[in-house]
Amino acid sequence: MKVFDTAIIGLGPTGATLANLLAMQGLSVLILEREAQAYDLPRAVHFDDEIMRVFQNIGIANELLPMVRKNPGMKFVDAENNLLLDWPRPQDITSQGWNASYRLHQPDLERLLRRKLEAYNLVTLKTSTRATSIHQTETNAVIRTQTGSANSSETFRARYVIGCDGANSQTRTIIESEIDDYGFQERWLVIDLILNKVRPDLGDHSIQFCWPDRPMTYCRGPGNRRRWEITLLDSEDEKRVTKTEHIWSLLKPWITSDEASIERKAVYTFKSQVARNWRHGRIFLAGDAAHLTPPFLGQGMCIGIRDAFNLAWKLAAVIKKEAEYSLLDSYEDERKPHASAYVEMAIKIGQIIRSINHNDALNDVSGHRSQSGEMRSITPKLGASSLTAPRSNSKTDIEGRPALQFRIQPSNELIDDVSGYRHVIVSNTRPEGLTDSIFWINALEQEEATRLLKHLNAEAAWIRPDRYMGAVTDSIQELYEYLPNFLKNREHFGDYNETSIS
Ligand SMILES: Cc1cc2nc3c(=O)[nH]c(=O)nc-3n(C[C@H](O)[C@H](O)[C@H](O)COP(=O)(O)OP(=O)(O)OC[C@H]3O[C@@H](n4cnc5c(N)ncnc54)[C@H](O)[C@@H]3O)c2cc1C
Repeated sequence: MKVFDTAIIGLGPTGATLANLLAMQGLSVLILEREAQAYDLPRAVHFDDEIMRVFQNIGIANELLPMVRKNPGMKFVDAENNLLLDWPRPQDITSQGWNASYRLHQPDLERLLRRKLEAYNLVTLKTSTRATSIHQTETNAVIRTQTGSANSSETFRARYVIGCDGANSQTRTIIESEIDDYGFQERWLVIDLILNKVRPDLGDHSIQFCWPDRPMTYCRGPGNRRRWEITLLDSEDEKRVTKTEHIWSLLKPWITSDEASIERKAVYTFKSQVARNWRHGRIFLAGDAAHLTPPFLGQGMCIGIRDAFNLAWKLAAVIKKEAEYSLLDSYEDERKPHASAYVEMAIKIGQIIRSINHNDALNDVSGHRSQSGEMRSITPKLGASSLTAPRSNSKTDIEGRPALQFRIQPSNELIDDVSGYRHVIVSNTRPEGLTDSIFWINALEQEEATRLLKHLNAEAAWIRPDRYMGAVTDSIQELYEYLPNFLKNREHFGDYNETSIS
C-alpha cells in the first residue's frame, strides 16, 4: 500500500494552506475532506499582512488582491456614540511587504487555495471522505475513512498526519488532548447582507457598538457585502432570533429590507479554547482543531495559517531526512504560546465591547495603545523552542518575530519571490559550508539589506522559511552557532530510530 509523506484531515483554509506548502516542497499529500464541496458561506472577513505574505509564498496573492479590500481600521463607540477607542490600520505598505489589514470573503480564498492545489500531481484529494480513526505504527500512521453515502470504508497510510479538521476535531479526540478553556463563551447572531443599494454612509471602518445591554459589531466586507454580529441575551431563543422579521427589526437603526438581502444568518457560540497537546507522535493538530478564539481581532483563521506556515518546512526537512526528528518538537513549543496570545487579546477586546465600566476594560489594553491612545495590533513572539531560545547577547528583540520583507534590486522584486520557500541569510560576508536550502543575500550589494542590518545593529541575520527571524548576530561566524545543525552541512539524518517516533 502506498505510504503518503503526509495526510491532511480537513480542507478548510488551514488544511488547504498546509497542503500547498507541503506540495511546493515536493512531498506527497493525501487530503481527506468530509464534505463534497468547499463551505460556501461567509465566515472570516479579515486577515493581515503576515497572512498575505503566506499567500504570496503559495503563489495566490496577486489573484487574491482584486478580491479583497484594504481595511482602514476599527472604532469602538459607546451607547451615546462617543468614541471609546480607535484602532486605525496603517494604509501604507508594512514591513511585511503588504497592507496591514484586509477584508475578504472566506469562500473566495478557499477557492483560490483549492485551485492552486490542482497544479500539484503529488496531491491526492478525497472529498466526501471522513477520517474515522488513526492508528500509529512504528513507521507510519494508518487512517480509516468512511466515504460518501455508500458508507464504504477505506484505509490509507501516511508518515505524518495533520488534523486540520476544525472546531470539533476528531483528530484532537484521537490524540486525547485536553482543552484549556480561557473562559470566554458567548452566543452571537451573525448576519451577512448583500447590499442592493449603495450605502456609503455605513462606512468602511468596523464599528464595535459597546452597548452594555446589547453589544454589536458592524463589518464592511469586500464589494457589497456587509456583516452585523449581535450578542444574544441569555433568555433569547435561537430559532426566534434568526427569523427574518426579527433580524430586520434588530438592523432597523442602520438598514432596511429593501436595501439589502440576507445571505446568511447563524448563531455561533464564540469560544476561547486551546488544545493542551498539539501532537502525539506522527499526528499533529493545526488551525481550529488546535485553538478557538472569539472573532474580535479577526484572527481565528490567521492563527491556523500561521500554524501551517510554521509546520510545513519542518515536516519537509524531517521527511527528506535533512533535519533531525526533534525539529518537530519546536512546532507546539513555538505555536501554542503565540496562538494563546491572540486568544487572550481577543478576550480583552471582547471585554471592552461588553463592559459596563469601559475604563477598566480599556485600562486592560493600555499596554497596546500608542501615546495618542490609539490601539495597536499585537505582534507576539513565538514561544521559546530549540530554534528560538533567547540569546544572552541578543541586541534586539526581533528573534521569533516576523522578518522584514524588503525588495531586491535591480529587479525590485520582493525578497520572498526571489529566495523561494527557503531559509535566507543576510550578511556582508558569504556564508561557507551551508546547504543549498539556504539563500544568501549579499548585504553589500543590496541597499535595503544593508539598511536592515544597520537597523538591527548586526552583521548577519537568519530568516526562516516561515519568514520569522531566527537569529541576528555580530558576525557570520557567530550566526553559525545559532543555525540548526541541519543547515550547516549536507549530512542526512537517515539513521534516527523511526521506532522512537510513535
Ligand atoms: C462568524 C465568524 C467570523 C470569523 N471571522 C474571522 C476573521 O475575520 N478572521 C479570521 O482570521 N478568522 C475568522 N473566523 C474564524 C475562521 O473562519 C476559522 O478559524 C477558520 O475557518 C478555521 O479554518 P480551519 O481550516 O482550521 O477549520 P475549518 O474551516 O472548520 O475546516 C475544517 C475542515 O475539516 C473538515 N472535517 C472535519 N472533520 C473531518 C473528518 N473527520 N474527516 C475529514 N474532514 C473533516 C470539515 O468538513 C472542514 O472542511 C471567523 C469565524 C466565524 C464563525
